[in-house]
Amino acid sequence: MALRAYLGIPREMIPWAPTIDSDKCIGCGDCLEFCPNDVYLLFEADQKMQVASPNNCVPMCDRCVTSCQNEAISFPDKEEMKKVLQQLRQQVQARPVVQIQMNPQ
Ligand code: SF4
Ligand code: SF4
Repeated sequence: MALRAYLGIPREMIPWAPTIDSDKCIGCGDCLEFCPNDVYLLFEADQKMQVASPNNCVPMCDRCVTSCQNEAISFPDKEEMKKVLQQLRQQVQARPVVQIQMNPQ
C-alpha cells in the first residue's frame, strides 16, 4: 500500500528507504516476506533483492534490518533524518495556500 504523506510531508519528498548491499545479498527473500508494503522485488536475472518501490517504505521504519541474516540492508541515520523531516515540514508549512474559486452560475 502506497503511503502518500508522512507528518503532512508528501512521501516522495522524504529520502528514506532501505539500501541493499548486493555483495552481501544472497537473494533468500526473507526481507520480501517480512515487509508488508511491497518495497522489495527479487531481480530474477541475478537473484539479488531490489528496492523496487522506495516510497512504499514507511519513514523511520527499519524493522526489516532484522530479517536479513547477511546484514545486507541498511537505512539512513535516524537522527539525521529527524532533522531532514523538521526542515521538510517547515518547507511544506511555508507553502502558500492556493484558493480555487468556482465560477458562479
Ligand atoms: S534478507 Fe538480506 S540476503 Fe535475503 S534477499 Fe533480503 S537483502 Fe538479500
Ligand atoms: S523499513 Fe519497514 S516499511 Fe520499510 S521496507 Fe523495511 S519493513 Fe518495509
